[in-house]
Amino acid sequence: MNRIVDALSHIRAQLPQQVQLVAVSKFHTVSAIEEAYACGQRVFGESRVQELQEKQPVLPSDIEWHFIGHLQTNKVKYIAPYVSMIQAVDSLRLLQEIDKQAKLVDRTIRCLLEIHVAQESTKYGLSIADCHSLLQSKEWKECTHVKICGVMGMATYTDDTAQIKGEFRQLHTYFTELKAQYFPHDTAFKEISMGMSDDFTLAVEEGSTMVRIGSSIFGNRN
Ligand SMILES: *Cc1c(COP(=O)(O)O)cnc(C)c1O
Repeated sequence: MNRIVDALSHIRAQLPQQVQLVAVSKFHTVSAIEEAYACGQRVFGESRVQELQEKQPVLPSDIEWHFIGHLQTNKVKYIAPYVSMIQAVDSLRLLQEIDKQAKLVDRTIRCLLEIHVAQESTKYGLSIADCHSLLQSKEWKECTHVKICGVMGMATYTDDTAQIKGEFRQLHTYFTELKAQYFPHDTAFKEISMGMSDDFTLAVEEGSTMVRIGSSIFGNRN
């Protein structure tokens, strides 16, 4: 029995067809990624620039790499040539840097706005008020090489499923509000990235379009 193959098909069976699976491979080996790739998985998520820099060149070029962690502005340049989506944009400054680096390599980089919905105060992310000021800013209107495709968020780490569901519902509400106000005719603004190994079924119930799943596929991280 191959654990990664089985885990992947078990998870896929639980996901509605329109929900995209991002296989979170951080801390896992190139060969583990190759196993998932052999089962048809093409979208992978990493959260550290150096680790992604080591893996990307030795893996197939049709992999879509999503950067899902906190990204420092001075590191954007390393991943700009190939990253498919930057999921955790949490400042205008970061968005501007992504725009600048994307322009230099003649690409448009897809991004999600990370919105803080969890109770923990340590997690990164924008408030909904921050999102409004970002999307109303002159600086954002001048960005030509980033495409904002939706929102991303994480629920509180808790056993309280009602709380988790409430936070996912809140993120969905924020998405709807931003869509109506800034992207009503933009079909690319459609993603709600929410749900991880422990809570993705709740996230899907609340309208997730993209789940980010690591340990349930690859096992525990060292
Ligand atoms: C690590 C990570 C995940 C995956 O978490 P699992 O619990 O292993 O599924 C999802 N999203 C983000 C932002 C992460 O950093």
